[in-house]
Amino acid sequence: MAYDDNNVFALILAGKIPTNKLYEDEYAIAFKDLHPKAPVHVLVIPKGKYMNFSDFTSNAKPEEVAGFFKAVGKVAEQLGVVEDGYRLIMNTGNNGGQEVPHLHVHIVAGKKLPV
Ligand code: AMP
Repeated sequence: MAYDDNNVFALILAGKIPTNKLYEDEYAIAFKDLHPKAPVHVLVIPKGKYMNFSDFTSNAKPEEVAGFFKAVGKVAEQLGVVEDGYRLIMNTGNNGGQEVPHLHVHIVAGKKLPV
């Protein structure tokens, strides 16, 4: 399977679809999920073209992996959810329920989440 350059997050990264960026650095950007499942629901995506978690861990450079996860931590801090807690979700592939084929982490917070 090849990376789809027309997936919605690729278009956001290319500036072809507008989004309100909450965070950006060399490795990642973050923006609000279009259909929030909790009071806080933000997506963090790497700037590199990686389809999912396995593609990322297999093919990204170590600095991209580190930079991405550090960005997730910074976004959680910026959102002010560290003290009360939050959930990270990375749906992967068909059985994992992944809809957009560009790696993304959901940061979900702002209420007590069901187990
Ligand atoms: P997943 O099922 O893990 O692939 O999640 C994809 C997420 O992307 C869903 O929660 C969607 O609501 C969200 N989404 C889709 N298009 C956009 C968009 N243009 N801007 C922000 N979030 C989006």
